[in-house]
Amino acid sequence: MSAHLDFEKANEKYVAGFGDRAHLPIHPGKKLAVVTCMDARLNVFGHLGIKEGEAHIIRNAGGAAKDALRSIIISQRLLGTREIAVFHHTACGMLTFSTPQLRTLVKESDPTNVALNAVDDVDFLEFGDLEKSVREDVTFLRENPLVLPETKITGWVYEVETGKVRQIV
Ligand SMILES: [Zn+2]
Repeated sequence: MSAHLDFEKANEKYVAGFGDRAHLPIHPGKKLAVVTCMDARLNVFGHLGIKEGEAHIIRNAGGAAKDALRSIIISQRLLGTREIAVFHHTACGMLTFSTPQLRTLVKESDPTNVALNAVDDVDFLEFGDLEKSVREDVTFLRENPLVLPETKITGWVYEVETGKVRQIV
């Protein structure tokens, strides 16, 4: 089973309803960047009422602000966003493991392959407390000299059980 085999057929339907999206501006209309998790259950456009052209959606494992910094700098300096909303979510995979555990898992998958030791340089940025992790990421961004000082930064939890969002900071 390969998911990519369905792409072209699905895309035909999408193209049929593409409408006037060719004229969307590259600068996000809401001047908003959302940092959130890559979790497959999250439909960010749906749960925040955002449309194409309105916001940058920066996704990674956990919605980690540190991991998103490269994209945030581009978003702000080149594409004009001035607001960041950080979302972490309930039942996130990031609550279920530690960096040392994952490093061991990777290395033990092929113990003779020394190239896998490169995983020791990866910080997986997991967290143990959901709301605390949101506060810490907002603080990280507020205190980061590379983030524009006038940026409005908020922190949120999305509940996968209910679809509800809840502001933490
Ligand atoms: Zn997650």
